[in-house]
Amino acid sequence: MLRKQIRDIYTPKIISVPPAMLVSEAIGIMHANKVSCILVFEDEALIGILTERIFILNVVSGEFDFTCCQVREIMRSTVLTTKEDTYLYEAFGLLTSQNLRHMVVVDQKDKALGVVTYSNMLEHLVYEDFLEVKRVSEIMSRSVCTVSGDDAVHRALVEMVDKSVSCVLVVENEHPIGILTERDMARMVTSQVDIFAKKVREEMSSPVITISKDVVAYDAAFIMRQEGIHRLVVVSEADQVVGIITQSDIVRGLEGKYIQILKEIISEKEAVIEETMRDLYNKTLYLDNILRSCIDMGVVASDMNLRIAYFNPAAEDILGYCAGDMIGRSLNEIHLKENVDSSLFDWVMETVRKTGQHSFMFERVKDDRKRYIQGNVFGVWDKNQDLIGYVLMVSDITERKMNEEVIKYMAYYDILTGLPNRAMFYERLAHDLTHAKRNRARLALMIIDIDRFKEINDSRGHHAGDILLKAMASRLKGALRGDDTIARIGGDEFVVILPQINGVDDATLVAEKIAQEVGRPFDIEGQECRTGVSIGISVYPLHGEDSEILIKLADQAMYTAKDKGRDNCTSNACLHPL
Ligand code: GH3
Ligand code: MG
Repeated sequence: MLRKQIRDIYTPKIISVPPAMLVSEAIGIMHANKVSCILVFEDEALIGILTERIFILNVVSGEFDFTCCQVREIMRSTVLTTKEDTYLYEAFGLLTSQNLRHMVVVDQKDKALGVVTYSNMLEHLVYEDFLEVKRVSEIMSRSVCTVSGDDAVHRALVEMVDKSVSCVLVVENEHPIGILTERDMARMVTSQVDIFAKKVREEMSSPVITISKDVVAYDAAFIMRQEGIHRLVVVSEADQVVGIITQSDIVRGLEGKYIQILKEIISEKEAVIEETMRDLYNKTLYLDNILRSCIDMGVVASDMNLRIAYFNPAAEDILGYCAGDMIGRSLNEIHLKENVDSSLFDWVMETVRKTGQHSFMFERVKDDRKRYIQGNVFGVWDKNQDLIGYVLMVSDITERKMNEEVIKYMAYYDILTGLPNRAMFYERLAHDLTHAKRNRARLALMIIDIDRFKEINDSRGHHAGDILLKAMASRLKGALRGDDTIARIGGDEFVVILPQINGVDDATLVAEKIAQEVGRPFDIEGQECRTGVSIGISVYPLHGEDSEILIKLADQAMYTAKDKGRDNCTSNACLHPL
């Protein structure tokens, strides 16, 4: 109960009037709704508050004709507001410190939700948290504002305003005979009672509910609640007025406790704030260290206007700028320096705003070497989903790209000779065959195998064999045209695609040229070496239509050439001595 919040006690109801409404009408609405205040709205905005007290003060000032005066003329334009989650004790403290009686409860966006009054608060403070046992005589107020029953109502009103109290007591021989409250006054004035002529006796509420000064405060509070009133007249044993006790007095009686609770709330809040600060500090520290230790990942953060707020050391290294020079400058400047077109930059930022991120790659030269940079831009949104900035993350992917290229090369090329390998050969053959089919052209496939290559390996060593393979690759290449393909598909086995031939004869001519090239002695580590090749040929579409058949036939032809004594070339089983 001590932790009660405003949301638990306020009335979620707004009675509002426009500022141009006549005060008399507004007071009528207030009475009809049995409320002591009314809110003034203009264009849906809360611009003021009108209370019974304000009204009465104006009546007393005398220069006010409420029948033709508008609400805007007397309303108070500073309205005390509070959030729903404010603790009751805090709100109460604020209200009493400002000497006000009404607070408007607003939501997070300052929209009015309802009103909480001093009386609302008192009720909850008194009845829920009343623990201390004090006698009424200890906490009552002894200075009572009294008038006689024969006094004019106006006198009572002036007393009320002068002494700044909300009621006057009507006494006769010190005995209480009636009471006049602020609300009674407001009622009389609006119903045009002649307060100068009318006697207090005629308008007062009677009888007066009294209480003995020896009763405990808790019981006084209980009676007030039961009777639906905010004050009790305290009388002696002889039924003479000795004081008046209001709900406020009871609360004041609780002051010690109230202050203690307030202190508890404040220290609780301070502890929360301290913890949040510590949390925040730690998070910032962690985050900062994480970002700084991102050795490979450059991080640049900007606000939503692209002003750079953060530039980590890796970003300095990758992008080649000094953080000190970049902080406060525009993200666009980096792009302009890197020759990125402005319209492209705008398009990228638009993509980020729409989809949350954008990835891209660019190249830059660092220490005379080309570097490949991978970039990702992300949008940063706050908890309301409003865009508040951007983060650019960059990484130098040159090594990775190089590795990828090596892997790609190894997948398609023979490391020893640098010629395309079997995989690349298949791709080229498929491609050239499609082309030949489309153009009704002819294409020749040649399988070339070195004769007695093992002998070289055996007599001169494997290394010498490798040298011969490389030299062979270069001779074969030299014997061919640019659009021919030569690949190494096995140990000492090469394959050639001739995409532009008229017939077998053309291929045989190329085979002869190859045999001629290969026939010249090779120089292997200073020693002469002679060798020959056996060549098998198949021609599309004469010998077959698809690559598998063509390869098989060329292979068979090559073995036929071997069988015929090597240094031969065969096609479709026709032997051509080379
Ligand atoms: P043939 O006349 O029938 O072609 O006999 P050959 O001695 O040339 O033997 P064959 O073509 O059947 O075998 C090729 C040999 O090439 C087998 C292997 O030891 C050798 N070899 C395969 N790859 C390499 C390589 O990368 N380097 C070297 N130095 N030798 C290789
Ligand atoms: Mg061989």
